[in-house]
Amino acid sequence: MPEGDTIHKLARALAPLLDAAALEAVATRPRRGAALVEHGAMAARGVSARGKHLLLALEDAAGRGWQLRTHLGMYGTWHQYASGAVWHKPVQQAWAVLRLADRVLVCFHPRELAWQPRSGASMDPERLDARVGPDLLDPELDLAAVVRRVRACTPATRPLLDVLLDQSLAAGIGNIYKSELLFLHGRHPLEPVAAIADDALLELYRDAARLLRRNLKPGPRITRERAETDEYLYVYGRRGQPCRVCGTPVARSLAGEHLRSTYWCPSCQPRQPG
Ligand SMILES: [Zn+2]
Repeated sequence: MPEGDTIHKLARALAPLLDAAALEAVATRPRRGAALVEHGAMAARGVSARGKHLLLALEDAAGRGWQLRTHLGMYGTWHQYASGAVWHKPVQQAWAVLRLADRVLVCFHPRELAWQPRSGASMDPERLDARVGPDLLDPELDLAAVVRRVRACTPATRPLLDVLLDQSLAAGIGNIYKSELLFLHGRHPLEPVAAIADDALLELYRDAARLLRRNLKPGPRITRERAETDEYLYVYGRRGQPCRVCGTPVARSLAGEHLRSTYWCPSCQPRQPG
């Protein structure tokens, strides 16, 4: 796990490249699974470290200040390539791409990345810890602590589908894993979190961590244990198709706080009475 001193070393290594450099293009990925967003040409205005966070100050053509903040966590890394060189990791794993005249800097797999206007209120790592839950890809992840965090920080009536997507409780589960995990554990998406016992909730997060880790490698996302080549998922994206376990047509609705697509098998994941 990169500690603060590692990040300070990184900032010192990047400083000669970035101090007052003209960046021809800057792109960042807002969240897991989203496409890279282009921000256009920028001027670098300094790189620094704060705790485990690397901060890059930038200015756009209109003179507005921006900040790129990355926390590398366990798997994050910055690479430097000559323009046109082949990257060592797939572009899908790139979360920030900074193009200079003769080279490109790429941040792969950060635990956290934020792109925001650089004005008065900048980041505060301690408050960040309250806002971003434990990373499910952290090998030192404490699952019991995740369960305690869920119990302490979210209402008992909140449906499981919203709890799983809440990155302030545990970071990593996206919309596909949400549906797949609930299927794997036979839980109806709208079941209140209070209805699931601590040990079952812990196993749900343990499975989430396992699937996320398994899918770090390139290639399709797989949740089935023995997936056929084109059948990687149990329920996600399979509305109306037969459940792979019982044959019941898979249901879909736009559910939860964010009305995200939610898929489930009405037979394998029955709504609990009461
Ligand atoms: Zn079923």
